[in-house]
Parts: sequence; structure tokens; C-alpha cells
Amino acid sequence: MRIDWVTCVFGPTFFGLVCSYFVHYVGPMQTSLTFATDNRLPEILDRLRARFPSPSVDRQDPLRQLVFGMVSEGAGPAVGVGVFNRLMAAYPHWAALRDAEPEALATLFVGLPRAAEKAEAVPEVLRAIEARVGDLSLDGLSKMNTEAAKGWLTELPGVSLAVASAVLAFSSLERPTVSIEGEAARVVRRLELCPAGAALSAVPRHVMERAPAHWRAKEFGAMSDGLKRLARVACHQGRAACAKCPLQDLCPSRNRQSATIIPFNARLKDGDTQPAAAEKVLSK
Ligand code: SF4
Repeated sequence: MRIDWVTCVFGPTFFGLVCSYFVHYVGPMQTSLTFATDNRLPEILDRLRARFPSPSVDRQDPLRQLVFGMVSEGAGPAVGVGVFNRLMAAYPHWAALRDAEPEALATLFVGLPRAAEKAEAVPEVLRAIEARVGDLSLDGLSKMNTEAAKGWLTELPGVSLAVASAVLAFSSLERPTVSIEGEAARVVRRLELCPAGAALSAVPRHVMERAPAHWRAKEFGAMSDGLKRLARVACHQGRAACAKCPLQDLCPSRNRQSATIIPFNARLKDGDTQPAAAEKVLSK
């Protein structure tokens, strides 16, 4: 029998043995189930911020951030901001954008990926918001917790999980959540900030679990933005251009041949299939 301070305090009774068991075995088990901070993350964030300063765009209004996120999703930062600014100049009032013809919007969306689809989706999402809350506003999200707000947003037509997370992180809602789409997820995986077999939809959670406890919306927002931009300039699909990457000495995958880096839509050895890189959470 193990004699220790718990047994001494409670005596060699059944109660003492039960207490000893919980203190020495259950306690440590619960501790091991908590997630460890990855000590590289603050340095990764500092370097990404230095290399990719955030673009200056008004991200205060959640509805404005939603439209910006939908329009710019998958586009380079300069293209996304440029098209969004043209859109706001042509449609300065939400009601006008709600009633816009997709054909008219498509002429402004030249250069965007999935331009025709976005030209349909933007007025549609405004109509859906108005139908649900009676107003063209997302201010009501401030009364929801982060997960509920994320769920509410992803039920809107054409709103991906990455865009919903960006609304919560970059707008006046300022929720501590990270927005990671397919390209940024590739960087996360190569940095081994998530398990090798993690589904795309689980990647943001893995990053958040490893982040310092004091990180807030500002830090997660900058991380989201920096990862996305690094994917475009260096961490390409296929062979990455590691020589251009500011994270080389922090990355276990640096200079690895592309053949050893499994894309998110590849079949794993044990037969599991990861979700496609373009996985989205769309409403019915
Ligand atoms: S070192 Fe290479 S593989 Fe690693 S994050 Fe940078 S570009 Fe990607």
C-alpha cells in the first residue's frame, strides 16, 4: 500500500485510500488532458506581423466585415481590398446592395475567385440577415457567445467557417477566434501546429488550444492574416519556397520535398480521408 501525506491525513481507511487515488492518479490524468501552449506561437506571430503588416480597411462594423470576407475570400489581399472598396463606392447603402442585380455586381468582381457565385451570394446574404433579424445589421451578435455567434453566421447562405470567424475576430465584436481557410491551414500543418491527420474544420481549434492564454482578437486576427499571406508568398501547395519564409528556423517541414507533404484532400494510409481543402460550412 502506498503511504503518503494523504493517507497520513485521512488514516489508512477506505476513505483515505480513495482520496489518495484521486490525488495521485486522477489529478495527474486531468492535467495531462489540458493542452500545452506551443512556445513558438508568440515568435511566429511577431515575425508574421513584421513581414505582413495588416491592410488598412475599416473592419469595425460586423456586417461590413462579413461582406468584405465574402468578397475577398480566396483572393490576394490587394485584389480583395480593391474590389471591396469599389463595391462600397458603388453601393454605399446596404439596402442598395441587397437589391443589386448579380450581373451588375459581377462587373465589379472581376479578378476574384468564384466571382459569379459571390455576385449572387452577397445580395442573398443581406436578404437572409434582414429576414432573420428584421434589419440589415449584425449588432445582435454582441449578445451571443462566440460559438453561438459562429454557428449563427455559418447558417447564412454562402458564409464559410473562415469568414464567420473573421467577422468575430476582426470586427467591433473582437472575439478571440482564429480564422483559417484552406491555404492558411496548409501552413499550420507544416508548422505542426495541429496533428498530421486533423480535419480542416478542426485546425482553428488546434491553433487556439496551443495559443498563449492572454491572446485576444487582435493577436488571433493578425495570426489569421499572416498565415494566409505566407501561404501565398512562400508556403505554396506542392513545393514550398522556404528560402523566402520568415519562419524557417521554427518549421519542422522546411525544405521538405513536396511529395512528403500530404495535401488536405489526400487519402491517409489508414484509409481515413481528410476533408477537401475547400471545405465550407454552408447553410441548407
Ligand atoms: S519553412 Fe517552408 S514549409 Fe515551413 S512554413 Fe515556411 S514556407 Fe512553409
